[in-house]
Amino acid sequence: MDGRTFQDGLGSRADLAGAKSALTDAVRNWSLSVDLTRYGLGTEQLAQVYDQVFFENPGFFYLENGYSYTTRQTRENPGALVVSVVEPKYYGEFTIQDIPAYEAAVKNALSVLRPGMTDFDKALALHDYLAENCGYDDTLTHYSPYHALIHRTAVCQGYLLAYSDLLGRAGVKNYPAVSTSQNHGWNTVRLDGNWYHVDVTWDHANELPEGWVLHTNFLRSDQGIQSTGSLHRDWAAPNACTDTTYEDSFLPSLRDPVLYPPEGGAYFLLDGRLCCSTDLSSLQYEVVSEAGTGEAEDPRTGMVYSPRDARLAYFDGSIYYTDSVHLYRYELASGETSLHGTYSYGGGFLYGLSVIGTDGDGSHASLVMEVRAYPGGPFQSTYTLKPTLSPATAHRIVCPSRGYRDVSADQWYHEAVDYVLENGLMNGVSLDTFAPGGTTTRAMIVTVLYRMETDPSAGSNAAFSDVAEGSWYAEAVNWAASSGIISGVTDTAFSPDTPITREQFAAILFRYAEYRGLDTGTGEPLSGYEDVSRISGYAEQAMAWAGAAGLMTGRTETALAPAGTATRAETATILMRLAELLSQAR
Ligand SMILES: [Zn+2]
Repeated sequence: MDGRTFQDGLGSRADLAGAKSALTDAVRNWSLSVDLTRYGLGTEQLAQVYDQVFFENPGFFYLENGYSYTTRQTRENPGALVVSVVEPKYYGEFTIQDIPAYEAAVKNALSVLRPGMTDFDKALALHDYLAENCGYDDTLTHYSPYHALIHRTAVCQGYLLAYSDLLGRAGVKNYPAVSTSQNHGWNTVRLDGNWYHVDVTWDHANELPEGWVLHTNFLRSDQGIQSTGSLHRDWAAPNACTDTTYEDSFLPSLRDPVLYPPEGGAYFLLDGRLCCSTDLSSLQYEVVSEAGTGEAEDPRTGMVYSPRDARLAYFDGSIYYTDSVHLYRYELASGETSLHGTYSYGGGFLYGLSVIGTDGDGSHASLVMEVRAYPGGPFQSTYTLKPTLSPATAHRIVCPSRGYRDVSADQWYHEAVDYVLENGLMNGVSLDTFAPGGTTTRAMIVTVLYRMETDPSAGSNAAFSDVAEGSWYAEAVNWAASSGIISGVTDTAFSPDTPITREQFAAILFRYAEYRGLDTGTGEPLSGYEDVSRISGYAEQAMAWAGAAGLMTGRTETALAPAGTATRAETATILMRLAELLSQAR
């Protein structure tokens, strides 16, 4: 050093927004380093920008809250040292292959949402999901939202990033609150113009039996969050939280996840009474059942059961809930409560209740409900209740398309939609719609076939001028072109976004079948359809084969509709039949 002092960056002349966007892009692409010299950041400014990128993109589950960097002098600003190359830190345990698993876990968590929910409902349902399904990581090594949603244990940073990612995708504004002095972080959430603190980490009841969820740290004011624990001090968060409506209500006393059954409404137990609200954000509710709210004492142990130990669970149109020894069933359609079972283990009380799922294979199926009792230690005194269900009811509970309101059990394509969803071949077009009547584009078909390949060869660049390198379908198109499955609409164009016609679909399937070594035979010429003559020459053999193989039937008894576009429901059906064909041929 020559004794000169340098200014830390260009101060107010630094381009923070530009740096943030460059850093965000770099992290999105898992770049190991990014040159930020041109933005003129000082080291303090870099810390601020990195923090924003980290907390505003909670879906970057692979990004650590740390980085290294170099600074340098530039010719244009010789008096200043500006941040030059920044190396974001990535967790060594994740690779790009982990993205689908993370996305699937996010989707699974978001499936607790129902159409028509208010932001309040979304914040509550996601809080309850995370608090119930993620435990505190005592090894202090799980910092990522990936850990929270997939390993299901995390420290506060994992909880807060997972909650932030879920809220963001549900359209609820939120921002982290971080206390450096307390080494703790949580979330702030905006509902109806007001900001509130939510600390999911502390609402996971580590010391309480499984399935319990506290609401002590849900929707607190600045004042209120400080009263719930000494770690809630000295935080930095951009918005003041002043509203105390929710912390002054019954909400903090709830100790079960609130149930949002598909039939509508929000259900919860308040001192053993089953309550229902049609708009919980207003805090209005009615008591729908008062069965079994008394205290009870176990004569042998002297233990006292309190109505606050009551539990509830939803299953197939009914809400089940416990008192000290009884299991009640509240039927949503009729509003009637009946006694469903009595615990007779011999001493102790019921304290847990969860619907585990169904057993059986669809031909016979039963609900397995686990009821835990105390004393006896966790799980030692569980027993299951198995009301037998009809196969249709059993299917409804596990049905992959149950979340889509435009797919119902009596539609001809139901099974096919289930199949493509279950096997990851197609997805819904939104959280709760599948769009069975929507069209399928050429790029989508090729991408699905590519997904059906377990280990596809990379394929050379097909050089279609309308297939941009790096687009979501580029790899699939290159693979399909170099495998002889597609040939483009001209020598230089693939027309990826055009809806696929039925004859184009048949031709692609035909070549794919050949590529997979299926016997495509000679195929009986098609007959019995009035529009056979409209089939293009290149697709004649393919349409005949597809018909004979049962992949593609006429659209009506007399029409093949070769130039008609394939709906998503038709596509799903064809893909299911194709998969059957491939598995038979194996
Ligand atoms: Zn189904």
